[in-house]
Amino acid sequence: MTIEIPQSTLPYPPLYQGKKFVVLSDWDGTITNYDSNDYMTDHLGIGREKRRELNMEILSGKQTFRDAFREMLASVVANGHSFEECKKILRENIKLDPGFKSFHAYCKSSDIPLIIVSSGMAPTIRAVLSNLVGEEAAKEIDVISNDVEIKDDGKWEIKYRHPTSGYGHDKSQAILPYRSLENPPILFFFGDGVSDMSAAAHADVLFVKEKPYGENDLAAYCVNNGIKHILFEDFEAALKVVKDVVEGRKSVKEALEMGKC
Ligand SMILES: [Mg+2]
Repeated sequence: MTIEIPQSTLPYPPLYQGKKFVVLSDWDGTITNYDSNDYMTDHLGIGREKRRELNMEILSGKQTFRDAFREMLASVVANGHSFEECKKILRENIKLDPGFKSFHAYCKSSDIPLIIVSSGMAPTIRAVLSNLVGEEAAKEIDVISNDVEIKDDGKWEIKYRHPTSGYGHDKSQAILPYRSLENPPILFFFGDGVSDMSAAAHADVLFVKEKPYGENDLAAYCVNNGIKHILFEDFEAALKVVKDVVEGRKSVKEALEMGKC
């Protein structure tokens, strides 16, 4: 079987070599309390109901994530919202998972790289990240995401990392190179939604966020596809499991058998 590797239009940060553990995490709705692209679509674009219809079409395979997500963001542009205005609104409204700062501090003190792997656009992620964790901490975190193209007339459009992939950004491409290293690290992946479908099957330990308002699309995808995962409510709960694996109290298999933390 030939596995097609999509060409990336955007650079990747260097791989972290010689690490025992690497954390890769989705940004929107996973590290943040609310997905920023959903926020824009719901409040400035086509609205929540239509957005959920598109999410369900992605989940059922009727539409690709790439095309449906482009449509959601285009609805924000069609309503006349500039990219700068969106960035400002997101900085004001998107909050951090309550356990993320401690989780990040633990990773840093334990020499575990933490990489954000997102289908969002780099400038909005950076704007919100620096606002939430501070400029210094934000600079230390690699972000592998999509980008934006701002036109002369002020209109903007998402620029996909992998335009030939139905995922737009195939997140497995951020994970798989670690598997080819001589001594591959144990890979933790955190996600919540349809943008994480491309990553779900490729981590050693997959954490899937359960949100109080529902929309647990990644959990549904994992159940439908028999992918083992651990449901988590916030990074404080997840940190306990990560510590157990890192500090040798639990094997990867035992962690996955928990099912929920
Ligand atoms: Mg997400």
